Amino acid sequence: MEARYFDGKTSRCHPVRLRAVPEGIEVAGIDWNRREPLARIRVSEPIGAAPRTLTFADGSYCEVAQGRELNALLTALGHRDRAVARWQKSWRLALGGVVFMATVLLAAYRWGLPWVAERTAPMIPPEAVTYLSQQVLKTVDGRILEPSALPLERQQTLTEGMRRIADSDPALTNGRLLFRSAPKVGPNAFALPDGQIVLFDELVALADNDEEVLGVLAHELAHVKFRHGLRQAIQSSVVGAVVASYFGDISVLLSGLTAVLLESKYSRGFEQEADDYGAALMRRNGMSADGLASMLEKMQRAHDKESPDSQSHADWLSSHPETAARIKHLRATR
Ligand SMILES: [Zn+2]
Repeated sequence: MEARYFDGKTSRCHPVRLRAVPEGIEVAGIDWNRREPLARIRVSEPIGAAPRTLTFADGSYCEVAQGRELNALLTALGHRDRAVARWQKSWRLALGGVVFMATVLLAAYRWGLPWVAERTAPMIPPEAVTYLSQQVLKTVDGRILEPSALPLERQQTLTEGMRRIADSDPALTNGRLLFRSAPKVGPNAFALPDGQIVLFDELVALADNDEEVLGVLAHELAHVKFRHGLRQAIQSSVVGAVVASYFGDISVLLSGLTAVLLESKYSRGFEQEADDYGAALMRRNGMSADGLASMLEKMQRAHDKESPDSQSHADWLSSHPETAARIKHLRATR
């Protein structure tokens, strides 16, 4: 390709031709030529459309117009612009950074968040836990929940049954059973973080015996013991929880908690833990986990019959595909 050659001593310009040769570059003038290894040539960085200079070790240099020809020559010489190299490096660095950050965030979400929730839930003062529980109940009473129509005698029997189970674990002394009806929701029960357990008439009606109901209550008591409600609420409203802790406003946690309890967003791990500890509580009180297993089965069937496609609000069926696995697990670990 054509270029303008300057000897570096005078301002005279010599028209030359440049060409790539095995050892570097060949500069050919009218009656002279020189070869220069690439290692001894300094190639200027591209600046706008200005000609680039190839400077040789002795101070002489060539001015070359930018364009396809020069690019082809530089490529043939194996030269790579530092800007390009930098850009490629920074691009790789940026991509690596993005991947790294995504991994960190994912890990934080997957492991860090539950870890934080597990440690912060016990730090919520008891008064706040009581307040949150009352507020959740107030939100759903009259809207989703109606007064129970269960005969007082049956209520007393079940209350005593749960009392016995709860008394077998000192951590569950706050356990209290509340009766409600929820025709729109169907058979269900849920635990408030302060230890109150809300049992629906529809679940009692579905059960064949008290042991089945008590199995469910033992499972709910386990949710209380391990603070699953608060932990799940913290996990699902972590940003809100951070804000709440800063400003002392726990309303964000409240909405998170209501959603967790009513839409049954417990993680599979929490359900598993509640099943296992619920079963242990039952055995400790001379009963088996079979009641819990058969209750799960009935609720699954009732749910399938009623709304095979819909997402149930029932705690028990939140992990719908896992229900069968839970039943199997409960039966296997009797
Ligand atoms: Zn549960």
